[in-house]
Amino acid sequence: MDDSKIKIMVLDDEPFMLQLLEHMLVNLGYAPIATCDNGQTALELIAGSAEPPNLILLDINMPQMDGLAFIRHLVELHFSGSVILVSGEDERMQQAAEKLARAHQVSVLGHLHKPVTPAGLGDLIGKWKIQSRHEQRTVKQVYGADEVRAAISGGELVNYYQPKVEPSTGRVMGVETLVRWRHPSDGLVYPDQFIGVAEAHGLIDDLTKAVLTGAFAQFRLWQESGLLLQVSVNLSMDNLVSMSFVDMVVELADKFGVPPQMMMLEVTETQLMKDLRTPLEILTRLRLKRFGLSIDDFGIGNSSLAQLRDIPFDELKIDQSFVHGVCDNEKLRAMFDSCLHLAKQLGLEVVAEGVEDQADWDFVRNRGCDIAQGYFIAKPMPGTELPEWIRTWNRAYVESGKCTS
Ligand code: C2E
Ligand code: CA
Ligand code: CA
Repeated sequence: MDDSKIKIMVLDDEPFMLQLLEHMLVNLGYAPIATCDNGQTALELIAGSAEPPNLILLDINMPQMDGLAFIRHLVELHFSGSVILVSGEDERMQQAAEKLARAHQVSVLGHLHKPVTPAGLGDLIGKWKIQSRHEQRTVKQVYGADEVRAAISGGELVNYYQPKVEPSTGRVMGVETLVRWRHPSDGLVYPDQFIGVAEAHGLIDDLTKAVLTGAFAQFRLWQESGLLLQVSVNLSMDNLVSMSFVDMVVELADKFGVPPQMMMLEVTETQLMKDLRTPLEILTRLRLKRFGLSIDDFGIGNSSLAQLRDIPFDELKIDQSFVHGVCDNEKLRAMFDSCLHLAKQLGLEVVAEGVEDQADWDFVRNRGCDIAQGYFIAKPMPGTELPEWIRTWNRAYVESGKCTS
């Protein structure tokens, strides 16, 4: 990022800290700096400004509105910049605050422990400038419930499909459906910018229904052109709260004439559920109706052994953080191998996600992993592009190059 575009705000209730941080920033070459000693004034300044700050140094501990409350209000203002948390709290507290801010989808550069040093501050801002320069996606924005609702009912959500391939044979056996929002002015918006909003505002059943409808229709189109592919769809834990969800899925599959065993429903436990009885019953009923069940992002977050024990899964997806770079990292290798071993012992199909390069591909292939998915094979694409991609892939596979090890 070009330095003249950097607009920094410092928010701290202690006048001395405000002065000190401002002084350090000016010495580092950033000026002018906006300073504020309370959250309310800062929010008013941001809301009323044509050029709001793109970096805020935020004190977590402030008397009226604390830093965490301030972040919540920032989200409501659709703040698209970054935040550096500053406090005298201990490391664990700072990490918790950082996690919370990220849960609100606010970009947190890191935290600085008081007393702040010019070197620590300069380092963080330096990293941010590099990151901003490399950022590919358009400015991250959090959308409001009304916009997401209108997008679902207005048919602005579209499904992309990412191929899943058997490394042992090269056969394309299926696809994962990944939703995108074709936004009239913001271009293609990725799911991390609206799934959370849909979950928080009771829109996730409508969203999932739209995605399933598109996926079923696409399955039929491919089938009619001679392409039989297993289709995976992501479910949210919030879909698994009422039995009517099972009826919706069964009826839709029936309406489109899609055999349930050709569908894989991916679940990941995104939030700590107090009571697992209802989700468990819903998943078991879907399994009884012959839909496939997949445990997604295995190994991170809350995708746990207890779920494996309690839910009749067919497939386990090893999280991409254990896959890319696995061959030169002993720790990753140990984790990858344990996931693979566990899945095989339980008789599950294993998918390695995040296969990004030849080394990852060779590794998962040599390890006997059943299915691979990732940018090395293909990025998610519109359904209409898939048949042509498969033809090209098959040709390249036969002529090899990509798939030798
Ligand atoms: P996920 O289910 O873990 O999906 C895989 C994500 O990794 C996708 O991001 C995909 O584009 C990306 N990816 C694929 N190959 C690679 C690779 O080689 N390297 C890297 N770094 N990334 C790769 P995407 O499409 O942005 O989706 C993000 C998440 O949004 C998904 O994670 C899923 O949890 C959620 N999501 C997507 N579609 C839906 C949906 O229809 N319903 C629900 N509830 N969630 C969805
Ligand atoms: Ca998934
Ligand atoms: Ca995943």
